Amino acid sequence: MYCPFCDESSSKVIDSRDSGDGIRRRRECLACARRFTTYERVQMRALMVVKRDERREEFVRDKLWASVTKACAKRPLPLGSIEKALEEIESDLSDSGRAEITSKDIGELVMDRLKVMDRVAYIRYASVYRDFRDIESFKQEIEALIENREPGDGVPENQLSLLEDETPPIRRRRRRGRRPKRPQANPA
Ligand SMILES: [Zn+2]
Repeated sequence: MYCPFCDESSSKVIDSRDSGDGIRRRRECLACARRFTTYERVQMRALMVVKRDERREEFVRDKLWASVTKACAKRPLPLGSIEKALEEIESDLSDSGRAEITSKDIGELVMDRLKVMDRVAYIRYASVYRDFRDIESFKQEIEALIENREPGDGVPENQLSLLEDETPPIRRRRRRGRRPKRPQANPA
């Protein structure tokens, strides 16, 4: 960070405050003692998401939040846990320092967290975002979750019936089937 007045590279921070979408820092140059302001933002705006059809789209934080909060809708999650998970996902994304990430990789990051948070939210999210190749692999995911269920953890017997309200994976497959064929890029 160079002083805009004298180009000195050392400065001290004399004030720092969070302004909502970034951190504003008031600095004082160690050489000329003049003061200037810097603004620190997470690198998110520059992150590009590579879609399944290879199109690039700028990462939109609100979209990620919308998809995750939708998956978690009406689930008995502790207050703040969705926000915490999302913030962890976002910091994973920015820590990676990558300019591009595939939508599939973002989906995996989300699913890793939802899997331990709430299995219904996980299945809901996975049914929309995971590239389930067929109904059988989707069924295996659900069965794996049921098998891992610990006794007495309070999940109602009918939890999977919630899935009926969600996007059916079969319909998704048909829609996707109209897309041009391309090499299999997503191992199960
Ligand atoms: Zn200076």
